[in-house]
Amino acid sequence: MTLQKIPLAGVIGAPIAHTKSPKLHGHWLRQTGVPGHYIPLHIEPSDLKQTLKLLPQMGFVGLNVTVPHKETVMRIVDIVTDRATLIGAANTLIFRPDGKIQADNTDGFGFIENLTGGAPDWNPTAGPALVLGAGGAARAVIAALLEYNTPEIFLTNRTRDRAENLKDIFGPKVKIIDWVDAANAIEDAALVVNATSLGMQGKPELRVPLDGLRPDTVVTDLVYAPLQTSLLETAQDIGCRTVDGLGMLIHQAAPGFRHWFGADPVIDDKTRAILTK
Ligand code: NAP
Repeated sequence: MTLQKIPLAGVIGAPIAHTKSPKLHGHWLRQTGVPGHYIPLHIEPSDLKQTLKLLPQMGFVGLNVTVPHKETVMRIVDIVTDRATLIGAANTLIFRPDGKIQADNTDGFGFIENLTGGAPDWNPTAGPALVLGAGGAARAVIAALLEYNTPEIFLTNRTRDRAENLKDIFGPKVKIIDWVDAANAIEDAALVVNATSLGMQGKPELRVPLDGLRPDTVVTDLVYAPLQTSLLETAQDIGCRTVDGLGMLIHQAAPGFRHWFGADPVIDDKTRAILTK
């Protein structure tokens, strides 16, 4: 009888104690019956290169990557997917059987899957999207929206330089709006995305006035703790279809699970409940 290797995967970051990924992948491992494990690993930047060399030898088939390694891993790995290059960061690594490490970014995929699942009538080409924020998450959102042919992105960020940087990367479909003028772009938007950390537990509220919001605009928040942010609450009061950020977290994790463990995870209300307990 040949004993099969137990597949191992995990998430690397520093700090790492807060991560919900082990709960999610642990749930999927139990659900699919794959005899694998998914482990949170606190890895300091100075140990990153050595860790990526050692883990495949120890039975790891891949990793999720979080702060502060999302950009630096790109310079260490052998292969970077086009979407990770466009986003400038990786969140998923695959340790390939040929010994090469491949870096991917599934945030944009997770964003679109969540949006189309939560707002099935949303049409990416229906009109401009207003994106609040210009950090790593906003970059993934913009890449995904442009891939789905959103005609124009109104981009606004407290620090204008970061928005300018994204315009340089993504080109003329991105129009920069001053942070103080964000409210002026709302009435023309078919989609509003909060990709700032405002509204997150422990952070200030998002204070962009929403008076101009149309009831047919879809509103989504990347923040998932709390699930119901004041942006989503106000948008619901106006009659907008809203989508919270938890589904993006779940959907961005699924491609990694499929690659590493060779099984299809189910995404349903139980999956959401596991993460909100
Ligand atoms: P990041 O790179 O650190 O960017 C943070 C963004 O928030 C920047 O645009 C920043 O503006 C803005 N911001 C922070 N404090 C602010 C304040 N007081 N006033 C105005 N703007 C402020 O972070 P990120 O990785 O892009 O993540 C952004 C949010 O998305 C976080 O809440 C994160 O949890 C969430 N997220 C969710 C998912 C998901 O799966 N649902 C995935 C990725 C991220 P400045 O440039 O001016 O600092």
